[in-house]
Amino acid sequence: MLTDYHLHLRSDAFEATAAEHYTRANVERYRAVASERGIAELGVSEHVYRFQQALAVWRHPFWVANAHDDLDSYCAFVREQTDLRLGIEADFVPGGEEEMASLLSERDFDYVIGSVHFLRDEAVDMEDFSVWKTGRSAEEIWRRYFQTIGEAARSGLFDVIGHPDLVKVWGRERPAPEGDLRRYYELAMEGIADGDVAVELSTAGLRKRAREVYPAPAFLEMSLAAGAPVALSSDAHSPEEVGADYEHALGLLAQLGVSELCVFEHRERRLEPLGAMRASDATSAGGDATGMGGPR
Ligand SMILES: [Zn+2]
Ligand SMILES: [Zn+2]
Repeated sequence: MLTDYHLHLRSDAFEATAAEHYTRANVERYRAVASERGIAELGVSEHVYRFQQALAVWRHPFWVANAHDDLDSYCAFVREQTDLRLGIEADFVPGGEEEMASLLSERDFDYVIGSVHFLRDEAVDMEDFSVWKTGRSAEEIWRRYFQTIGEAARSGLFDVIGHPDLVKVWGRERPAPEGDLRRYYELAMEGIADGDVAVELSTAGLRKRAREVYPAPAFLEMSLAAGAPVALSSDAHSPEEVGADYEHALGLLAQLGVSELCVFEHRERRLEPLGAMRASDATSAGGDATGMGGPR
């Protein structure tokens, strides 16, 4: 079995609308690429900040600007009109834990991905509100980032920790600490062990300036030693990105001796034996996907 649990049905473009993207035809496009790549288990995990209900958790200006959609309509669409697992990519908002817990528990999600995109009010991966423009050192940003990952894991709010070392997203365009980075990863490991969460292996980092999977192999190795299972995802924002670069991810998992992947249903986790990709995979599938644009 292969999974792709971190999918966005809509692009990050500000003008994108729910009505355009939450359609059966769009889901069919994601499904078509997944089946070409031998990925049976798909789940959608839209950003929580897209939804009006998220403003009860946090009123960061970025969230206020983006909170247009109705969370219950999203859940109803995924449940009633698709065969996708119903997930959500929720941020860890220190101080908003109770409100986030209510938002999540009031709905029947199959799984919740917990991501850290912000350190307090400052964004790790965006130009706007950027933490990199605050004059803080790379060491401080990395330390706070991995401490926050540990807190997110321990919070009990999430089933999966998303792109666990997103702090490296900018690659060489932002300063990074020198030397062995495991001293930062270590800051997250107690929380990961205590929180009983899965760690996401995401191929999205390969498509960013980081040019590396999330998390770095050393982080993944430490998480495995801490007892965390792996959830495999692409963080696709368009159909052709479904299962992107999975051959790379599967190579890494084989190297680390990982033979099972997490599968989620109604927030229960189980492990399934890891499957292989189809022989005719990735390279051709990306090209084919663009030809499947028509609604069916
Ligand atoms: Zn994210
Ligand atoms: Zn995402």
